[in-house]
Amino acid sequence: MFDKILIANRGEIALRVLRACKELGIATVAVHSTADADAMHVRLADESVCIGPPPSKDSYLNVPALLAACEITGADAVHPGYGFLSENARFAEILAEHNLHFIGPKAEHIRLMGDKIEAKKTAKKLGIPVVPGSDGAVGPDDDAMGIAQAIGFPVLVKAASGGGGRGMKVAQSAEDLMLALSTASNEAKSAFGDASVYLEKYLQKPRHIEIQVLGDGRGGAIHLGERDCSLQRRHQKVWEEGPSPALDATARKKIGATCARAMQEMKYLGVGTVEFLYEDGEFYFIEMNTRIQVEHPVTEMITDIDLVLEQIRIAAGGDLPVTQDEVVINGHSIECRVNAESPVSFRPSPGKILQYHPPGGLGVRIDSAVYQGYVIPPYYDSLVGKLIVHGKTRQECLMRLRRALDEMVVEGIETTLPLFRALVREPAIIDGDYHIHWLEQYLAGQPAG
Ligand code: ADP
Repeated sequence: MFDKILIANRGEIALRVLRACKELGIATVAVHSTADADAMHVRLADESVCIGPPPSKDSYLNVPALLAACEITGADAVHPGYGFLSENARFAEILAEHNLHFIGPKAEHIRLMGDKIEAKKTAKKLGIPVVPGSDGAVGPDDDAMGIAQAIGFPVLVKAASGGGGRGMKVAQSAEDLMLALSTASNEAKSAFGDASVYLEKYLQKPRHIEIQVLGDGRGGAIHLGERDCSLQRRHQKVWEEGPSPALDATARKKIGATCARAMQEMKYLGVGTVEFLYEDGEFYFIEMNTRIQVEHPVTEMITDIDLVLEQIRIAAGGDLPVTQDEVVINGHSIECRVNAESPVSFRPSPGKILQYHPPGGLGVRIDSAVYQGYVIPPYYDSLVGKLIVHGKTRQECLMRLRRALDEMVVEGIETTLPLFRALVREPAIIDGDYHIHWLEQYLAGQPAG
């Protein structure tokens, strides 16, 4: 096992990793920018190192500073959390070159899945169903119109290196195609330094369903069921739940087994998420994330498996915690991402939290790094915290969520709490009858069908 882990992240996920380390008896090193000197992860870690000024590129993405922090503190492993360097294959390699363990998958798998075109090809080869689309990148010399017509409009132009919903443009008809191609390509070039784009059939009313996988890197792999992340705004997840209200046990078992088998064949190491769109009873692979996800607590609540703790154990050479047959899905869980944003315009609302009262009680969990008097800096994501609720049934879970949302107080800044309080009372949400475009239609005041 590792002796000392450096957590190359901030906010709630840094705290989440810290908690797993504490339980495992591993010493922790927090790193922080000058803007985060008062952050909770810094206060709770055994040691901390300032790694630079506020902008992420000078601090949380500053590889030389992170290496120096490992050297100074004698850390033997690095946990990247999510975002920042978590899906940077080169970072994983650099750590290895310095005899440091990267707590994550093998660099080759991070690289493979980081390129969505390659990821899709790999998925297909491994027997995972994919969204119909172009065979690879669509360049200026290709007959983009011919390919799009063969797929059938509407089509979605997607960036090969895309992430966070950026570099994606819909072409409703042939007239829109050229503009969508150039806009997506330019956006991809400036955001990811890679202009390559590909085409996909644009699905009209799918759900976003993702499978949590866990591999030991030696050919052993299991799945831990699914999360339904269909409630999205600008392709960003807002509310996640598991099990999906749209799946039955047979469908769950089938897609789960397909993913687990693929991970066994790849000899995948650590935690991962295979993401699908699901429409009319069919699954279509869109991408794989090779890291712990924001919404991982949903799976933890219904499987009673500590994903971050297991991720660390497995990175240190440990075995899978359970066999596939031992995985039991228990009850229902919902996570709300409470952001420091206007619930109407979604404009970020950084600033000082004047009053803070997290909800409690049976089945209620808060993953957050804020406290009363904490100032949310304007430089990073706007997550205040994740409210995660568990119940024996979806109905009990919704009942608890309604109560917990009403109990939660965050004052001094605007938050998306009022949006969740409304959503949890919406008939379509109560019925579990929604798809990936539902929330945007609801917010636009359109009848969401
Ligand atoms: P990113 O890596 O930017 O998050 P994804 O490929 O995971 O991109 O897609 C993010 C979201 O975009 C999906 O959850 C879905 O809402 C939407 N999306 C992606 N592909 C399609 C598609 N082919 N048709 C309709 N919506 C899509």
